[in-house]
Amino acid sequence: MTDHPRIPLVAVIGSPVAHSRSPALHGYWLRRYGIKGFYIPMDLAQADLESALRMMPRMGFVGANVTIPHKEAVLNIADVISDRAALIGAANTLIFRKDGKIQADNTDGAGFIANLRQHAPHWLPSAGPAAVFGAGGAARAVIAALIEVGVPEIRLANRTRARADALRSDFGAKIHVQEWVQADAMIDGAATVVNTTSLGMTGKPDLVLPLGSLSPQALVTDLVYTPLKTQFLIEAEERGATVVDGLGMLLHQAAPGFERWFGQRPDVDDATRAAVLSA
Ligand code: NAP
Repeated sequence: MTDHPRIPLVAVIGSPVAHSRSPALHGYWLRRYGIKGFYIPMDLAQADLESALRMMPRMGFVGANVTIPHKEAVLNIADVISDRAALIGAANTLIFRKDGKIQADNTDGAGFIANLRQHAPHWLPSAGPAAVFGAGGAARAVIAALIEVGVPEIRLANRTRARADALRSDFGAKIHVQEWVQADAMIDGAATVVNTTSLGMTGKPDLVLPLGSLSPQALVTDLVYTPLKTQFLIEAEERGATVVDGLGMLLHQAAPGFERWFGQRPDVDDATRAAVLSA
């Protein structure tokens, strides 16, 4: 019998998935490190999710990234779930283990923090409260990560208040739910200000917030990365704040998966950013 080494395959699973930058990012890293492997987009309907995930390891897949709308559903399929994925209630990274088990993790929060540490090394999470706008799936990862790194208080507002209240009951007393109209007071004295809504994305209205009380010492960041610099970040920068765009979060959340699947810790540097931006 000939023992052919298998070429590792990885997919990003979602629907739609054609817009995902992940294939360009992982494809760049595979070329850069000379690794024989493939990373492909896979558009899967909800009804096919479980059967596809069970079959993929037998087809040579070593793992997957998961995006909208499957991030929550994969937790019902995975055999092993990391604490942070369980806390967030969603997974973005799957590992198909040699023992046949599907392991689920969420690296969005770690990617969010790594991006801030890389681009604003002076940022001190404990320096003051954070003001977080939006309470969707990404907000859950951001809030878990902010609490983990020692932010003392999180002021949270969402268009649909019930979603923010749900985060308060899941994450506890550090979360102070506010009405959107209180944005001015939320930003006043905040050391960290985060847009986790989809406002500001190309094709959507801008996020418009009263920034009169924004401290020039504050760090302002946006999860949106198309455009790279949102109107919200432009206005915050004009007021003297340090701003960090959302592209680095996408790059950093991808690194742990790449390392697990392909055995190489990838660099997240200017060349990586340029490769993804030019794809
Ligand atoms: P999601 O679960 O659909 O949540 C969307 C959020 O945006 C909710 O808080 C929603 O409020 C709010 N929103 C949408 N339209 C709004 C409007 N017109 N006015 C006020 N609020 C509005 O999406 P998600 O997964 O959290 O993603 C949110 C954003 O983060 C997206 O732009 C996504 O691309 C980006 N993201 C970036 C990264 C990265 O690596 N940089 C990672 C994950 C996500 P309601 O609850 O009231 O609907």
